[in-house]
Parts: sequence; C-alpha cells; structure tokens
Amino acid sequence: MSRSIGGQSQCLVSRVCLTSRAALLMALVVACGDGSRHPSVLLVTIDTLRADAVSAWGEVQGTTPYLDALAESGTRFADATTVTPLTLPAHASMLTGLRPARHGLTVNGVATEALPVPTLAEHLHASGFQTAAFVSAAVLGAEHGLAAGFDHYDDDLQEPGGSVVRHERRGDRTVDRALEWIGQQEDSEPWFAWVHLFDPHAPYAAPDGESEGGRAGYLDEVRWADRQLGRLLGGLGDRTTLVTVTSDHGESLGEHGEATHGVLMYQGAMHVPLVMAWSGAISAAQRADFPQPGVVREDVVSVLDVTPTILETLGLGSTSEISAAWEADGRSVAEPLAGRVLPLECRSPSFYYGFSVLAGVRQGSLKLVGAPQSAEVDWVLNDISLDSEEVSGQVVVEHPLIQQVLSTEPEVEAPVIADLDQLRALGYVSATLSDAGDARRDPRESMDLVDAIDAANTLLVVGEPLQAWERLEAVPGDYRDVAELHLFRGKALRALGRSAEAVQELEEAHALQPESSSILLEWGRALLEVAAVTNSDAALEGASAAFQQALQLVPGETEAVAMWSLAEIRQGRPEEALSRLDAALDLKPQAGNLLLLRWRALKALGREKEALDVAETIQKIAPELSSYIVPSR
Ligand SMILES: [Zn+2]
Repeated sequence: MSRSIGGQSQCLVSRVCLTSRAALLMALVVACGDGSRHPSVLLVTIDTLRADAVSAWGEVQGTTPYLDALAESGTRFADATTVTPLTLPAHASMLTGLRPARHGLTVNGVATEALPVPTLAEHLHASGFQTAAFVSAAVLGAEHGLAAGFDHYDDDLQEPGGSVVRHERRGDRTVDRALEWIGQQEDSEPWFAWVHLFDPHAPYAAPDGESEGGRAGYLDEVRWADRQLGRLLGGLGDRTTLVTVTSDHGESLGEHGEATHGVLMYQGAMHVPLVMAWSGAISAAQRADFPQPGVVREDVVSVLDVTPTILETLGLGSTSEISAAWEADGRSVAEPLAGRVLPLECRSPSFYYGFSVLAGVRQGSLKLVGAPQSAEVDWVLNDISLDSEEVSGQVVVEHPLIQQVLSTEPEVEAPVIADLDQLRALGYVSATLSDAGDARRDPRESMDLVDAIDAANTLLVVGEPLQAWERLEAVPGDYRDVAELHLFRGKALRALGRSAEAVQELEEAHALQPESSSILLEWGRALLEVAAVTNSDAALEGASAAFQQALQLVPGETEAVAMWSLAEIRQGRPEEALSRLDAALDLKPQAGNLLLLRWRALKALGREKEALDVAETIQKIAPELSSYIVPSR
C-alpha cells in the first residue's frame, strides 16, 4: 500500500557562507568523522526516462517491474522535475545541487576543470566512501568535468562488435562493470556507485526489442533498461544500501513538435521518475525514517535535490550544514518543503541554434515557461495537475512567478571564453529585452527546423545521406544564420562525398558558433578529406588547427586527440602524435580509435616491434577493429 504526503512541513535553513570548495569539504570531513558506519550509496540514472513510461507513474503497464518494486519498497516522488532537459547539464546539477547557470556546464559538449562546489562523489569520498562511476555515453566522459571525487570513473565505451568511435555503451555491459566493482568492495567500508544507463536514448533499438522507432521502440528500450536495473539491484545482496533511481530528463516523443529532447521544456521532457529506497539489511531506525516503504510524495521536487537529500539521509550533516553551506539550489527533501520555487532553464536553443533560451519555474502544480530573449517573451502558465500535456497554457503578462525566473546566463563559463564582445555575440551575455535588434527566435515556434535536423541526424545514422540532405534542403531559407543547420548540412555533404562543399558549410557553422567542439571536429574531418584528394598542405594545416581548437575547448576529448593525431601523422609529425596519444591512452587504455592511431604513429616512425604489440592489443580487446590495420601501411 502507498500513502501520500503533501507539502506540509517547513524547513528552516540557516545559510552558512563558505566560499572555498576546499573549506567546505574539510568542514564535512571533520563533521562526519568515521565513515565506516555509513550505508553504501547507489545512484542510478536512466537517461531519457520520462516518468509516464514507468508503470508506477503512467498508464503503460508492465514496462518497469524492477523500478516499480523499488518504488513500493521506498519513497516515490510522483512529481519530480529535471532542471534542464539535457544530459551533461542535468547530471551536473544532480551531482552538485546547482542549476546549470551556476555550475557552468549549461549544454552538452562543453567541459570544466572544476565545478564550483564539491560534488556528491567528493563529499562521500571525503567521508571515507570508495567511489566509482559507470557511464554509458560519451557526453558524460571524464573530460567534461564530472569525474572529481570518483576513485574509478568508467567511461570506456569500447565493446565487442563496436566501431572505432563509440558514443554509447549498452546497459548490460555497464551493469556488468558496476557489479564487478561492487563485488570487489570490502564489507567494512561504505561505497558509492553512480551507474548511468543510456538505453532509452534515441535511436530506439533495444537488443531484444520487437518494434523499432516511435513510442513502442522507446518503451522496448525502457523495458530493457529496467531489466538491467533489476540485475544491478539483485547484485547488492545484504549490504545496507541507500538506492536512488532517477533520470536526467524525459523524451518528448513528438509532443509539441519535438521528437526527442533538449530544446523544449514540456512535461514529456521535464517530468522524471525519482525513487529513493533502502536495500539490504536495514535497522529499525532506518526503516522508520526516510525513505520509508510505500510512501508516495506528491510535492514537486527537482533533480537538484538528489545530492542534498542523499547527504542528509546518510547523516552527513543536517540540511542547514549541507545545501545551505554551498548555497545549493537543491534542498534535502526527506521532508516535504512548502512553497518552493524550482528553477527550469534550457540554454541549448541559444547555444546550438541561436534562438532565445527558455527559462521558467515550477511552484506547486504551476509551471511558467518563457523565451526571455525573444521579442514576444510569451510567458506561458500551466497548471500541471489539470493539464499535464500543457495544451491549454495561458499566456500571461503579469504574474508573480515571472519575478521568480532566474537568469540562465552562466555564472561560471565553461569553457572560458575571451572577451565581452565575443560573449555577447555568442549570446552568453543576455540581449536586453529593450534591444529589439537582438531579439531572437522563440524555440517553441521554430520546431520545424529542429525537427528537420533531428530527422536528418537519424537518416545519417542509418546511412541515408541523400534523404538527409533533401530534408535539410527543404528547410526554409530564413534559418541560414543557424549554426546547427550548417553543421548538419556539412555532415550530409561529407557523407555524400562532397567534402569541399562540406568545408564551406562547416566554416559558416564555426563562424556562427565558435565554441562548439563538434563543429570544429566535423570541419577538421572535412578538411582532412579534401587534403587526401588534393594533397593540399593548407587543408591539412586547417584540419590540424581545427582539431587543436576542439581539444582546447574540451581537453582530453578522445575524438579530438585521435583526429589531431591523424592530421599530424599525415603532416609528417608522428612523434608529436604519439606523445599525445600516449597521454590520452593513460586515461582511456581501451579506446579503440586511440589504439589504432598509436599503431599508425608507430608504423610511421618505423617502430615495427611496438606497432606489432599494439596490433595484438587491438586484436585482444577489440578484434573488430583489426580490419583497420592494413599491413602495407
Ligand atoms: Zn540525457
């Protein structure tokens, strides 16, 4: 049986201002003392899992028996929202308690050397926990900045049957790795594992799925991910473990014109499952305290609350010591908190498309979202309890919640960008609303473009470049100032073998969005192709420079290291390539693309014996890559 608890009690928070991350960590270490008393902690994030795809939330029955059972055995937060519908920013918010504008990782593909506050992993590590992360997508690779505090950060996506460049890893393999690590942990010491499953993310093709694509294909992926969750939970045994399962964002599945996620902030993309439960042997005191079996919480909470709630539940300081200490946007929600205003923000429309950002708030069942950089801001107010699909929202001009919307402009730049003019040109510095000349498109009214790019992306993935090109050609001409359109036109042209035209498109894309490492990588690849055909030294130089810039934006990014090394080998500089590859392989020893390039660099240097050793390593750990090793080269 489940019982519901609404927003009734009040939590008084005294703010302690600690400016230094180090000071904050030290304070927690001193306060926490002996870590061995603590239960272990498992955080599972199932990427792209919308709440109503989970049977405990939705009308769909039988998709998620393991998550449903966990929800019955613990506290289910019926109305949990993400803060932003994008993987890297949402996970960074989950692990810090800060909204994206404050931690700085506001879109995918950027990087930071250090987040402004300690992460959940750093807190737990400082309290004596063994810590490990197992992520399933390149977008969460260690180079992006979430690895701090983890003794072990497994972002090695290479797997049997994989291609040279892997962007994701199947959930069963990620869970295998996590179970192996958990099994190696001492009973006497607490551990923290973050396990990220990427399966429900597009494209939808579950290993055992019957349907492909669409809602049915998506639900097949959800079922598959749930089975992996079941295996993971089954491997915990009797260890006392605080388990949290949630998602970084949902999936729009075509609602409001959005096929996937990442641009709009309707509930399909924002409403996420959140379950917290004890697993294994638990004391009577734990059973009586949070999280309790069979409880359903109706108050609105956020992924921002995950870290403060876990820390408070473990007794690592009270709410006032934890989330207030770093002035987190999240709070411990072990008890319901009345009247909270939760931030919602999405900068990807600005970063990728040059549209206005979206910004908004949740308070109770009310949700307000607007496009503050567009000429008509159009604040739309919805009551989620009455209209969860948000089809009858009211445009409001004056409403108290408008005053509660916070700026989405990052307080911390990631990556660091040169000067104010450049920032303004990139949209990092808000165009003032009175400056009509700078008014941007409202993403909610520009989904025809996003949809065309989404469709072209899928067509490119399934090897239909001509259809992808035609889809992009059909986009109305007034989107020529959108970087993302030029990026995908460039990708399609490359796939069609029209590399010289691709170079032109990607040059335009780069001019419109100089801070995108994906554009730089694609531009460099096109230049390499041109150089291969024309023997142009200038094209080779250009490629090298593009890859170097991409690597400056995201230091350590495997693909940038690999591509830059390839360009250097072709430029007759295999020594430089080799030292960079060796450094990158220290961090990712099984990265297939790096190993292949190392083999090529060694061959170019005439170091045959070592090249042979690398070829053997490739044969052992990634036999499918051996076909790339051509004896004559
Ligand atoms: Zn995601």
